[in-house]
Amino acid sequence: MVAPKRPDSARRERTRTSLAAVRDRIVACERCPRLRTYCRTVAREKRRAYLDDTYWGRPVAGFGDPSARILLVGLAPAAHGANRTGRIFTGDGTGGSGDFLMAALHRTGFANRPVSERADDGLRLTDVYIAAAVRCAPPGNRPRPDEIARCLPHLEAEIDALPRLRVVVALGRIAFDVWLRVWKGRGVTQTPRPQFEHGAVVRPATLPDGLPRVLVGCYHPSRQNTHTGRLTATMLERVLAEAARLRR
Ligand code: SF4
Repeated sequence: MVAPKRPDSARRERTRTSLAAVRDRIVACERCPRLRTYCRTVAREKRRAYLDDTYWGRPVAGFGDPSARILLVGLAPAAHGANRTGRIFTGDGTGGSGDFLMAALHRTGFANRPVSERADDGLRLTDVYIAAAVRCAPPGNRPRPDEIARCLPHLEAEIDALPRLRVVVALGRIAFDVWLRVWKGRGVTQTPRPQFEHGAVVRPATLPDGLPRVLVGCYHPSRQNTHTGRLTATMLERVLAEAARLRR
C-alpha cells in the first residue's frame, strides 16, 4: 500500500511540477520574432572561443531554489552567456556578470560555488531564485519596450510557482520597473511612483496574499557597472545581506 503524501511534500511536488510546466512554456516561446531570430543567428554563428559548443539558442527560464524566499530579477540572457549555456547568468566569461553575481551569492551563503560556468557545473542556490525581465538575448543587450511587455507573463508565471517568495532584488532599472508592473497588475499602485536607486527599499502598505512584499533596487552586475566601480562586490553583498534580513 502506498503511504499518503504529507501535505508539505505534496505542496513541494506541485511547486516542482508547476515550475517545470512554466519552464517548458518559456523555452518554447516564439512571441518576439526579432529576438528569436537574433538568438538563433548567434547560436549558429557562435563566438570564436565557443566554436565547439552547442549553443542553447532558445529562451532561458529562471534557475534556483523552488522554495526560495528571495527572487533576483536580471535584464536578459547574454548572447554568448545564457544564450549559449541555457542557464541564466551562466557562462559569460571571466569578469562577466554571472561570476560577479555568483561570487557575491557564494560569500553571502546563497550559492555553493563562486562561479557559474555551465548548466551542469553543480551550482546550487539556497533560498534564492534568479529570473530575468526578458528571456531571449536582445541585440546590444537592449530589449524593446514591446518585448519587455510581451515577456512579462513568463515572470508572472514563475512568481506564481514560487510560493515562498518574500523579497525581490531588481538588478537594474528595467527589472525594477518590470517589478512595479507586476505589483500594478495585481492592484498595487503607489504614489509617488518609486524610483530606481541602488539600495532603495520599497514596501507597499498593502499587498494581496502570496506576493513578495519588499522590492530592493540594485545596480545590474554588468561589466559596464562592475569594471567602472559603479557596482562593487561590497555594494552587491550589502544588498544581498539586506535581502536576507528582509526575507523573514
Ligand atoms: S523575449 Fe520572452 S516573450 Fe519574447 S520570444 Fe523570448 S521568451 Fe518569448
